[in-house]
Amino acid sequence: MHNDSAPVPTPVSAGLRSIPRDQHSISRRQISQNALRVLYRLHEAGHEAYLVGGAVRDVLVGLTPKDFDVATDATPEQVKALFRNCRLIGRRFRLAHVVFGREIIEVATFRANVDDGSGDREVHDGGRLLRDNVYGTIEDDAVRRDFTANALYYAIADFSVRDYVGGFEDVQNRVMRLIGDPDTRYREDPVRMLRAVRLAAKLDFAIEPGTAEPIPRLAHLLSEAAPARLFEECLKLFLSGHAVASFEGLERHGLLSALFPESAAALASNRSGALRAMVVAGLASTDARVAAGEPVSPAFLFATLLWPAFCRVWMKLQAEGVQPVEAQRRAADRVTLHQVTTVALPRRFSLPMQEIWLLQARFPLRQRKRVTRTLSHPRFRAAFDFLVLRQNASNAHAADVAFWEEAQRDPDNAIALYPGEHEDGDDERAPRRRRRRRRTQSSAG
Ligand code: ATP
Ligand code: MG
Repeated sequence: MHNDSAPVPTPVSAGLRSIPRDQHSISRRQISQNALRVLYRLHEAGHEAYLVGGAVRDVLVGLTPKDFDVATDATPEQVKALFRNCRLIGRRFRLAHVVFGREIIEVATFRANVDDGSGDREVHDGGRLLRDNVYGTIEDDAVRRDFTANALYYAIADFSVRDYVGGFEDVQNRVMRLIGDPDTRYREDPVRMLRAVRLAAKLDFAIEPGTAEPIPRLAHLLSEAAPARLFEECLKLFLSGHAVASFEGLERHGLLSALFPESAAALASNRSGALRAMVVAGLASTDARVAAGEPVSPAFLFATLLWPAFCRVWMKLQAEGVQPVEAQRRAADRVTLHQVTTVALPRRFSLPMQEIWLLQARFPLRQRKRVTRTLSHPRFRAAFDFLVLRQNASNAHAADVAFWEEAQRDPDNAIALYPGEHEDGDDERAPRRRRRRRRTQSSAG
């Protein structure tokens, strides 16, 4: 039984609606062969077996699911006994993973809502951890999920869709609606606010007014979420092909400042809108790459998202009299340091992100030796793409873009074609400093 003091979602008792095969659009052809194998095997062994969650939702709206999750009344041990290629994972809540080469079908036993599903919040009750293997009925399992659209069950027994929360209608109407009381559900797990925006962006759904209303009010709760989980959520928000829609959704619902406080502040104070244009251009090109099946990198993404913060700190430090090169390096460090307390950007991404920023200052330097050095930098290509973005957004870097475009083909020709900007500029190498200062006394900044 649940303990009264545990934050249990408001029960929803819409009751079962079963949508028969001829009244929905899910066909077995849209389900992975491996997921079907798992479903059939469970069914043949006398268990209930359903496809559940994002896969059902995605197929209903005509998208191809990334992964297929199965829900069953069989215990993890019973599942394991049925599949040779099965391993049990999770300590407090055990899940079965049935492994087929690179595809993993996750099989979860119906559970009750003691677990908030968040993976990083623990509900304490007088010191006792209320997060055990509390199995439940399929209806318990449905109401503990976040959105109605995510709580549909496709039954392998009769190919019907089972709906306990009104999700089928919401999917038809393209609406994201939290199950239960929105305030309570966001407090249980603030990441649900991001999921609302992300899934609305991905599916092109509206967020139902009652589900949207608490978000700006409760956005600050995201500071309680684990930074590592927020990083994962950011990758899904921005590297899944709907980055622009995600960004606009975060802005609209007051979540941008909860995820990227310094960038949001910089955007708010940038009256020309050039910084926002640059970010949106970057996200649009990310979306185009995803659509074209090209690789996208978290380093470039975060270089884009945090560029407003970086520019702001960089300018502030220079206004305080810090030399440009030093100001740049300090700005990069400071922005990174502050950001990781909210969204834990791993170093393998933050280092190349900083390199992309710091290379921007090398682009105006066109001496032969510098050109060679810049071209051979491992982050040159990403930094150049970043320069193109800046150019698209503000049109202030046309000469640099033209020069480096040519320099990649023929550096000498580039230098010959675009003369006039050969004066030495900032350089981080100490031995050169004195010479530089003497020659460009008044041109710092
Ligand atoms: P996508 O795979 O497109 O990111 P999804 O809905 O499949 O979307 P997952 O994170 O894979 O998202 O979660 C699978 C299912 O688990 C969801 O459909 C939902 O039913 C449930 N779920 C996930 N996160 C939560 C949460 N924070 N609170 C309650 N239920 C959740
Ligand atoms: Mg999923």
